[in-house]
Amino acid sequence: MKKYDVAIIGAGITGTSLLYVLSRYTNVKNLVLLEKYPEIAAVNSGRNNNSQTLHFGDIETNYSLEKAAKVKAAAEMTANYVETVGKEEELFNKTHKMVLAVGEHEVAELEKRYEEFKDLFPKLCKIGKEEIAELEPNIVNGRDPEEKLLALCTEDGYAIDFGKLSGSFVKHAHESDKKVDVFLHHKLKEIRKTKKGYQIIAEGKKVEASVVVVCAGSHSLIFAQKLGYGKELGLLPVAGSFYIGKNMLNGKVYTMQLKKLPFAAIHGDPDVKNPAETRFGPTAKVLPLLERHHYNTVPDFIRTSAFTIDGIISLMKIIADPTYFRFVLKNFSYDLPFFGKRIFLKDVQKIVPSARAKDIHLGKGIGGIRPQIVDTKNKKMNMDEAKIIGDNIIFNITPSPGASVCLKNAENDARKVVEFLGKGFKLDEKRLKEELKE
Ligand SMILES: Cc1cc2nc3c(=O)[nH]c(=O)nc-3n(C[C@H](O)[C@H](O)[C@H](O)COP(=O)(O)OP(=O)(O)OC[C@H]3O[C@@H](n4cnc5c(N)ncnc54)[C@H](O)[C@@H]3O)c2cc1C
Repeated sequence: MKKYDVAIIGAGITGTSLLYVLSRYTNVKNLVLLEKYPEIAAVNSGRNNNSQTLHFGDIETNYSLEKAAKVKAAAEMTANYVETVGKEEELFNKTHKMVLAVGEHEVAELEKRYEEFKDLFPKLCKIGKEEIAELEPNIVNGRDPEEKLLALCTEDGYAIDFGKLSGSFVKHAHESDKKVDVFLHHKLKEIRKTKKGYQIIAEGKKVEASVVVVCAGSHSLIFAQKLGYGKELGLLPVAGSFYIGKNMLNGKVYTMQLKKLPFAAIHGDPDVKNPAETRFGPTAKVLPLLERHHYNTVPDFIRTSAFTIDGIISLMKIIADPTYFRFVLKNFSYDLPFFGKRIFLKDVQKIVPSARAKDIHLGKGIGGIRPQIVDTKNKKMNMDEAKIIGDNIIFNITPSPGASVCLKNAENDARKVVEFLGKGFKLDEKRLKEELKE
């Protein structure tokens, strides 16, 4: 059986960025990446399945100042990569981006937020109706002239094809001086602890590794729980769909955070590959699935702690909150035939008042699932990523903004991996800082 220093499970943005960081910035000699689908980034990291936003925290009004500072530092590493290593690979589009406040109350809130955030984001400008109209005429056309508008805007809006970026990480890992094996279409079945590390049993392949990093999205939790880790965690899978329109916006337009809700409000984004296509979303529909449109993952959801007594009480408690309950119901209605589009249109019209039902359609077969972590001990939802660190093994479960912060997450994991591998293994902090942080 072939033996590797490190095995990574899952070829989404989390697994592929770690492959890249380990191959370029450490002296780990041989690495293997195993993925169950025949292509890279087939699940949440695929171009069509997320909002394609490189989140910095400047226009995301669901972030606190503290979270924004953390996400900004991490997103800058991703921006540096796409602007340098991936420059010729058409991984991104750069446009202006803004968060839009509509009506007196939201405008006052945004004014307040600007004062709090302006030092962290010095390029963020406050713009009024006239400047908004210059950048985004469709925000102003057809709007009640009495309605107050304010936006915080910057030129540094990155739309990223995270699927292509995952491919770029793998390509550059192969170009390194390390031995890198990537096996697609090999579904991991079991991880067994051995005296010297782990045995990894996948469909059609068995390998051994000293250290394992599981980057299998929601499925990471199942493998963790099988090995006795993360028993106190469950998942609330929140599916996100997108409605599509034509030529409605020139850059990303986010709206103000809905009170008490942790999810970003609906935003409008030109598609990274075809900017004439404007995507509105994501919706947030709770579904008992671990992968969007893959109904064979219902049993996998049942296998997580969601179906223990504590898990069920936690989910009920979260959803029974009146604000969440109304939100969940509203989001279910968005996917209804005929009515769904008309209900969703109200959210679109907050951004583009002249939009009509005929102008948008539900994007078929696109969208993903945000694996929101549920703390079944304290019976509450945890909005952060979950990283479980075990004995020479790491499990990553990465809801939004997991793609934006992928290289920072990979840096943290790489540091832990070399620590696990022990004497003689190291992370080249200086090179990583020079190439990705400066
Ligand atoms: C609607 C929506 C919008 C989002 N928008 C944004 C955004 O704008 N910006 C942002 O930064 N983030 C966004 N996110 C979050 C982002 O998409 C995720 O954080 C990120 O894609 C997670 O990457 P990942 O590699 O951890 O998971 P995934 O991309 O899901 O990859 C996991 C991989 O593991 C593989 N796998 C699973 N089980 C096995 C197995 N048994 N054997 C082998 N392989 C396996 C899967 O096939 C898959 O390829 C969004 C998410 C959603 C759902």
